[in-house]
Amino acid sequence: MKSALRRAVEVTLIIVLSLGVLSPATAAPPSQGPGIIYTVQPGDCLSLIADRYGVDVETLVRVNNIRNPDVIIPGQHLLIPRQEVPLLAEGKAIVEPYPLVQGEAGIVLVRQCDGDLPSGEFAGQKLRFIRSPRGCIAFLGVYALAKPGTYPLQIRLPDGARLSIPVPVVAGDYEVEHIHLSPAKRALLKPELILQERDLVSKAFGRFTPEAQWYAPFSLPLRGKIHVTSPFGFRRSYNNAPPRGFHSGVDLRAKEGDPVYAPAPGQVVLAQELTIRGNAVILNHGAGVMSGFWHLSGIAVREGEEVGRGDLLGWVGSTGLSTGPHLHWEVRVNGVAVNPLTWTRRGFWYEVGRTRPRHIRLRGYCEEAF
Ligand SMILES: [Zn+2]
Repeated sequence: MKSALRRAVEVTLIIVLSLGVLSPATAAPPSQGPGIIYTVQPGDCLSLIADRYGVDVETLVRVNNIRNPDVIIPGQHLLIPRQEVPLLAEGKAIVEPYPLVQGEAGIVLVRQCDGDLPSGEFAGQKLRFIRSPRGCIAFLGVYALAKPGTYPLQIRLPDGARLSIPVPVVAGDYEVEHIHLSPAKRALLKPELILQERDLVSKAFGRFTPEAQWYAPFSLPLRGKIHVTSPFGFRRSYNNAPPRGFHSGVDLRAKEGDPVYAPAPGQVVLAQELTIRGNAVILNHGAGVMSGFWHLSGIAVREGEEVGRGDLLGWVGSTGLSTGPHLHWEVRVNGVAVNPLTWTRRGFWYEVGRTRPRHIRLRGYCEEAF
């Protein structure tokens, strides 16, 4: 039934395309209409429905005013907000979200791909495709400082055909943040130190293992109420100098010694003390998705270790270039820093074809593997 529904959605999109409302080269942004009404079927659960329509569970809970996400009843009507993504290149490819957003991740889906994997490039970023139940997919990260505009997406299909698809990137909502550092901390901002450490971190973030490890949206790395002290993407000005760079992660308020947990399963690819990032841990979640945790007071894992969702990684601190105890958490997709909090709402795990281990229970998530 799931595939029948998805086919129905795709058929609808093909009809829209063939009517000429959208053309592959000048596809309109997703429409903002109210969406469709879905009748809950026996065996349904919110995460299944959410995945079929490419929305997140939280959105369904919010727009339908659902009190208990674990309880939906066959026959119940749910509003599915409209999130259409146009089929591109005569239906051969899909880009989600469409348009892409500065500082957010996206997925390129090649719908028919038997045999070899496709290859591709977006805005100078080499795409690394993996197989999934929906076709071949590649994650990409949109650079937070990328100029809004249209960028070419180049795909080389297994049969040798080449697709060139213009994909729009729209602006994110980022402001300038002023940071004041003491002379001792300022001394750490030496360009050679920054570059040296950036190389080391980029190398760890650049690793690629095709198999995706996660099976749900990421959990938050801290327990209790979350307070963001510095959002992702803020342009940063140090000691009143012109802004340079941007905040590559999210800073979460925490006390020295608060435990830091893995937001998703993965392998520890870096666990060591760095000059600027302090005690640092980097996890490889697979499929080009990584996360990093900086300024820890202590590290509880070793390089090479596999961790599960919710496993202890270390403790909050203020080591390295930090103005007080907090957790800096970042997520990189295909090497590009993106907004980590988006991953706690929509984890793309359906696209990578992962199923949740049966013993792990999440609110609103199916008992059955799908
Ligand atoms: Zn930070």
